[in-house]
Amino acid sequence: MKFFLAIIGGGPAGYTAAEKASKAGKDVVLFEQNALGGTCLNVGCIPTKSLLYGAKQFYNATHAQKYGVSAENVSFDFAAMQKRKTIVVRKLVAGIKQRLNNEHCTLVNGFAKVEHRTDESVTIECNGESYEADNLMICTGSTNFVPPIPGIKENEHVWDSTDALAAAELPKSIIIVGGGVIGMEFATLYHELGVPVTVIEALPSILPNLDPEVVAVLAEKYKKAGINILTSTRVEKIEGNEVFVSSLSEAEQSINSSFSAERILVSVGRRANLNGLEALSDIELNRGAIVIDDFCKTNLLNVYACGDVTGKIMLAHVASRQAEVAIGRMLKVIPLQRIAYNAIPSVVYTNPEIASVGITETQAAEMNIEVEVNKLPMTFSGRFMAENEGETGLCKVITDAKNHSILGVHLIGNPCSEFIAAASFAVRMGYTTAEFQQVVFPHPTVSEILHEAI
Ligand code: NAD
Repeated sequence: MKFFLAIIGGGPAGYTAAEKASKAGKDVVLFEQNALGGTCLNVGCIPTKSLLYGAKQFYNATHAQKYGVSAENVSFDFAAMQKRKTIVVRKLVAGIKQRLNNEHCTLVNGFAKVEHRTDESVTIECNGESYEADNLMICTGSTNFVPPIPGIKENEHVWDSTDALAAAELPKSIIIVGGGVIGMEFATLYHELGVPVTVIEALPSILPNLDPEVVAVLAEKYKKAGINILTSTRVEKIEGNEVFVSSLSEAEQSINSSFSAERILVSVGRRANLNGLEALSDIELNRGAIVIDDFCKTNLLNVYACGDVTGKIMLAHVASRQAEVAIGRMLKVIPLQRIAYNAIPSVVYTNPEIASVGITETQAAEMNIEVEVNKLPMTFSGRFMAENEGETGLCKVITDAKNHSILGVHLIGNPCSEFIAAASFAVRMGYTTAEFQQVVFPHPTVSEILHEAI
C-alpha cells in the first residue's frame, strides 16, 4: 500500500497533521519511537505543569495566613505528586491514540529512518519493514542541548529536564544552569517545595528574551524569597557536584567561585533532532534546523517539516499551528494561510506567571518602529487585589506610534496565562487601540487589565 503521507514523530506537530490529513480522507502513516504526544506531553509541558500545580497547592497552603486561613502541619508527598503526573500524562496519550484510531490513521511504534526519496515518493524503514508515501512530514522535534562544559557528561549529579521529571525523590538542593524558560519553571517547582535553589545564567538577566521590566518583577520576588540567582555568570567546569563559575562583577572584573548541590540541572536550550534523516542529504538546514517556507515546505518537493525540528519557535502551539498550515497547503484547502509568527503567545509558568505576545520595546527599536508604551500595575485590577495578597504585577502594552495598532503585550501576574489569548487575537488581527477598546471584558476578572492598559 502506498500512503498519501508519512509522518515521522508523534508530538503536537505530528499528531495534529496526522489527524487533519486522515480526517480529510487521506491514507496516513505516523511513526513514533516512544509514546505519542512527544516532548510536550511526555517530558515537557504537561508533566511540569502537573508537578507545578502540586507545588503551588503546597505553597498556597503554607502561605494561607495572608488570607486569614491557618493551615498547620501542611506536608506533601512527592511520590504521590509524581504518580498523579504519570496518570495525567497516560490519559492524555491514550486520548491522542484514540483520536488517531478514530480517523483510521496507521500508527507504527518504532524508530523510523528515511531510506530513499524522489520527487514522487518517499520510502521509510521502521522495525524492518518498508513504507512508501507520496509525501513526507518531518516532525522529529528536539533534544536537550548539552553544552561543552568540562565534567558535564557522564556525571551522575547532572540532570537534564527529563531526568528531573523522572526523579523518584526531590533533590536536597539544586543548581540550575541556564535561567531560561525550563530553568525558571524548575526553579519555581523546587523552591515552592522547599528545596534550596541556585540559578546560574550566562547573560545579564534571567529569561533574557522577555520584557526586562516584567522579568525584573519576578527576579525581585524570587531573590527576596531566597532563590540564589547569579547572572552574567559562566560555568567553567563541573567536578562531581561542584560547579565552578566565573562571574563578571559590576566593575567588569572576573570573580571565580564554586557552588555545590546534590543535583545540577542543565537547561541551556534544545536542538533540532535530525536522527533518521541522513538519507535526505540535500535538505536545506540553517544552524542545524530544517529550513521551511511560510507553509512549512522544505526545499525538497514532497517534504514538509513542522515543530521544533524547524528551529523557528520551540513551542507546542507553534508546532500544531504549523501542522495545520502544512496540511492545508498539502491538501490545497487553505493555500494562502500563513502562520502569524508575530502573534505567537508564550507563557512561563513561574509564580507569578509571565505571558507575552508580539514585540518588546527592545525589538521595536531594533526594527526601527516608533512605539508608544502603556503600563499599568496589576494591582489596578480589583480581582487581582482580591486574590493576590502581597503580590505585584505588570501589564505593558506596545503600540505603533503612527497607526496605534497593538504590536505587543507583556504581562506578569496570576493568572495571565489564561487571558493572553485575548491579546494574541488583537496582535494577530492588527487591531488598533480604538478597536480593542470596543471589546467588553467581564468584571471582576484580571483580564480587565488589558482593557484598562490599552
Ligand atoms: P532557553 O533558550 O529558554 O534558555 C536557555 C538559557 O540558558 C538562556 O537564558 C541562556 O542565556 C542560558 N545559557 C546558555 N548557555 C549557558 C551556560 N553555559 N551557562 C549559563 N547559562 C547559559 O532554553 P530552555 O529553557 O532550555 O528551553 C528550551 C526550549 O523549550 C525553549 O525554546 C523554550 O521556549 C521551550 N520551553 C517552553 C516552555 C513554555 O512555553 N512554558 C517551557 C519549557 C520549555
